[in-house]
Amino acid sequence: MGRMQGFGTTIFAEMSALAVRTGAINLGQGFPDEDGPAGVLAAAVASIEGGGNQYPPGPGLPVLRRAVAEQRRERYGLDYDPDTEVLVTVGATEAIASAVLALTENGDEVIAFEPFYDSYAATIALSGAVLRPVTLRPSGGRFTFDPGELRAAVTPRTRAILVNTPHNPCGTVFTGEELAEIAALCVEHDLVAITDEVYEYLTFDDAVHRPLAAFEGMRERTVSISSAGKTFSVTGWKTGWVCAPARYVDAVRTVKQFLTYVGSGPWQEAVAHGLAHELDWVEALRKTLQSKRDRLMTGLEAAGFTVLRPQGTYFVQADISGLGHTDGLTLARALPELAGVVCVPTQVFYADPSRGARYVRFAFCKKDEVIDEAVARLRRL
Ligand SMILES: *Cc1c(COP(=O)(O)O)cnc(C)c1O
Repeated sequence: MGRMQGFGTTIFAEMSALAVRTGAINLGQGFPDEDGPAGVLAAAVASIEGGGNQYPPGPGLPVLRRAVAEQRRERYGLDYDPDTEVLVTVGATEAIASAVLALTENGDEVIAFEPFYDSYAATIALSGAVLRPVTLRPSGGRFTFDPGELRAAVTPRTRAILVNTPHNPCGTVFTGEELAEIAALCVEHDLVAITDEVYEYLTFDDAVHRPLAAFEGMRERTVSISSAGKTFSVTGWKTGWVCAPARYVDAVRTVKQFLTYVGSGPWQEAVAHGLAHELDWVEALRKTLQSKRDRLMTGLEAAGFTVLRPQGTYFVQADISGLGHTDGLTLARALPELAGVVCVPTQVFYADPSRGARYVRFAFCKKDEVIDEAVARLRRL
């Protein structure tokens, strides 16, 4: 499979298998170890028991499309027609894949900030497009990009830019100025923006998530993507959505219908309930995660790591050089034996792994006692 050359087993599978084999605490893969809101879980059960078990309509259940449109309007002042401008997908992952496959041609270039979520490079390769990474680097205590480097990445072949904020794995929430910079570039070069906003609710301190589609000239050229997995702690439900102008939604749906046709109905009903009735629960989750972030950061610092304070997501980046290590992959593979903890080497999220060799990623979406035990083990390093 030429196009997928180099995309073997993901690091998450390798590290999670290592965690199981060694009995180590898994702070590698980002999934919560506590359930989502009871009302959302009950709504899924009620849907199954109430006969919601056959194919939903291709674009997704109307009740969820309306709830998504309502959420974009209430939270961000963005108006989407639930019938023509919203599409339900099998998680954000399918939305991203369908958007890239639908909107790029062989040889088109797609810009993405690296480190990037692992599906981006694989999806771009599948579509026959070419990935142009723009590297995020620590500056002022957070990872960010150099606007000159971003501008220099645009060529006559550039078709699209993938923008993930809040950003996994860096924890950066792009500021209004950073997003305005990206927006201006998109307008100037007639680029399509594909945004991954799955952590839109999970921001900390005074960081605010702003959708790129809300910037001048962007609504008509942005495919906005989000998902229920992170918002409602139901990462196994794989229920996501696209909001975009009708012509983009048509193109994305054309691809999506031959990948999965539709996503599962009961989750869609339950997520619609969540968006309409459980956002207070989500706000409580946000606060809890912020304190878990602080708990893990304090522990990692005590163990000798240099950590960057994430402004959102589930993840902390830890610089390993203070501990005398130079290669995160080597350390991550040894850590279960050394300390009984699993992390993810950040270098796997880079086009060129050497650029991320100094960092490993730890997830803090775990019970306090799990974080405390992991930290106690790491202090023996
Ligand atoms: C978890 C995650 C996804 C995948 O979302 P699903 O809805 O589970 O497909 C996409 N992008 C980022 C940045 C993520 O962290």
